[in-house]
Amino acid sequence: MTEDNSIAARLVQVRRRIDDAALRAGRPPDSVALLPVSKTFGESAIREAVAAGVRRFGENKAQEIRSKYEPLADCGIDWVMIGHLQTNKAKDVARMASEIQSLDRMELAIALDKRLQQEGRSIDALVQVKTSTEPSKYGLPPDELPDFLRRLVRETPTLRVRGLMTLAINAPDQDAVRACFRNLRQLHDRMKDEAIEGIEMNRLSMGMSGDFEIAIEEGSTEVRIGTAIFGGRIYGDEYYWPEGKSGA
Ligand SMILES: *Cc1c(COP(=O)(O)O)cnc(C)c1O
Repeated sequence: MTEDNSIAARLVQVRRRIDDAALRAGRPPDSVALLPVSKTFGESAIREAVAAGVRRFGENKAQEIRSKYEPLADCGIDWVMIGHLQTNKAKDVARMASEIQSLDRMELAIALDKRLQQEGRSIDALVQVKTSTEPSKYGLPPDELPDFLRRLVRETPTLRVRGLMTLAINAPDQDAVRACFRNLRQLHDRMKDEAIEGIEMNRLSMGMSGDFEIAIEEGSTEVRIGTAIFGGRIYGDEYYWPEGKSGA
């Protein structure tokens, strides 16, 4: 028998690995959601995933959500913004995304809220926190989180805060990766204890193709998986969407 390498088959395989990791950690498998990340993949790959039952997709560029939104409008997709968002692209996300997981600064929250008010919409938001020391990773410094959450409640009513998101350090050292996830989990628990009015702290988006099993052991409620479902991305994202050349 030949190996079934279809997107549908890989979705099943990934889901099984998620379930196994949850069970190993003593957690119910349905406590961990799967967010397939379709960045750099086109309409046909996404339609294959839709046919296999996926309705939520993660993307890391506003321009890419915009270019996929119309052609795939018949699929009823919820687009989830998971990448660094420039303030001047807030409009696209306010119009087309159902959620942002990369909310990492007040300036962006205010720009999104203004556009969302204009659209008459509100969206779910996870705050992206920096849990590694790598200089390239975006995210709010952990010590700024309590004040940030209080300001969001007061100033940006169209953003419904639901939890936290992080990217772990990109390193072979599994203990260092685990420490990032554990930091986010502990921060989440502390914020939950503070019980800030207007803030729900129920979701922890952490874990990607290379590290999601560790993330689940550390309490992830949502893993963002691209490569293990859609295959390798041949070029870096910057190859297709160089900053500043997007024609926005
Ligand atoms: C690309 C991306 C992922 C998925 O990465 P894979 O390694 O392909 O699973 C997850 N989160 C963010 C923020 C991403 O940009």
